[in-house]
Amino acid sequence: MIPIEYKKIPDEYLEFIEEFKKKINDWWEKYKNDNSSSNIDKNTKFFFRYILKKENLKDFLLTEADKLPNLIECMEKHFPELKKIRKKGTSKGGDSQLYNCLKKVFCDLGYKNLPINNLKISFGIRACPYCNAEALHSQMELGEKDIDIELDHFYPKSRIPYLALCLYNLVPCGHYCNGQYCKHDKDSYELKLINPFTLEDVDGMKFELDVKDAGCVDYDGFPSSCKIIVKENREEFKANLEVFHIKHRYNHIEAREQARDVWFTFQKLCKHEYEEEEEKRVEFYNDLLKKDDLDIKGYIDREFKIDCSHYNKIYSKMSLDFLKELIRTRIKEDKLSNKNTIELLENFLLLRLLTLI
Ligand SMILES: [Zn+2]
Repeated sequence: MIPIEYKKIPDEYLEFIEEFKKKINDWWEKYKNDNSSSNIDKNTKFFFRYILKKENLKDFLLTEADKLPNLIECMEKHFPELKKIRKKGTSKGGDSQLYNCLKKVFCDLGYKNLPINNLKISFGIRACPYCNAEALHSQMELGEKDIDIELDHFYPKSRIPYLALCLYNLVPCGHYCNGQYCKHDKDSYELKLINPFTLEDVDGMKFELDVKDAGCVDYDGFPSSCKIIVKENREEFKANLEVFHIKHRYNHIEAREQARDVWFTFQKLCKHEYEEEEEKRVEFYNDLLKKDDLDIKGYIDREFKIDCSHYNKIYSKMSLDFLKELIRTRIKEDKLSNKNTIELLENFLLLRLLTLI
């Protein structure tokens, strides 16, 4: 799991909201004309009157990712039939007029105009945020229209149709993760899956590399001599690991080949850059250490911040975890005692290495 974020809401999506509001309005007027008032139940009337008032639709569609579970709770409290349908997982909706109307409006009427391609490519995503193991390509640059990125409804539209157009419920991801053998229409609300838009604790799930006979393993033999271990440090990640088959998928040969590249890149850097420039490095750190602790903390935050872009490559989270551990082990051998020097050195090496893999 890797984090994703919109630095700015796409203009095309904001334009879509305006158009969609007019569409719902027209649809609701027609629906009221076609059905006598006594045939429309009070829940349906209540919802559509509410959503058509002032900025309510815009606020609703732009509900922040971490507020989406509260929105579901609130909707199900007011309209208990929606809870039953979500749990059953049927897309038919039975005799619930509200569910049928929500599905008609949010899944059929609005979806046609959603700027899907803009949402798929707007933050230049290149690796699936759910697994970080599927490469995503947008071939717009090549003049072709096809993009192999899918737009997953984090909360499935068959269970929760009213979120089908909410910006932070639309997660660009890979074909496998979105497919029927993986997440598909699982009840992510009940399972408490983590939405990549809300992910802050990136290290809630960590990768560890176990290499048999590390000292004498060669390049060709490495993939079969190593094991990738996936650990969750937080209970919340358990369901994610299971739904996306993470442990199984990181046992594939491609992942172990990437682990090999990380391992050998590190060994190479340690030999050349790290050892040969030791004097320069010591000088650099000595200068920094003259500053007080607060300054150093600010310096690390400014210069060595690992942000979303560092996770935007296939297997980048795994590579980063391996590198951190390799660097830590290497630094321990140096017997450095100053905490700040260690932190700086770790970050310095990490960023140098990230440009190489
Ligand atoms: Zn994926």
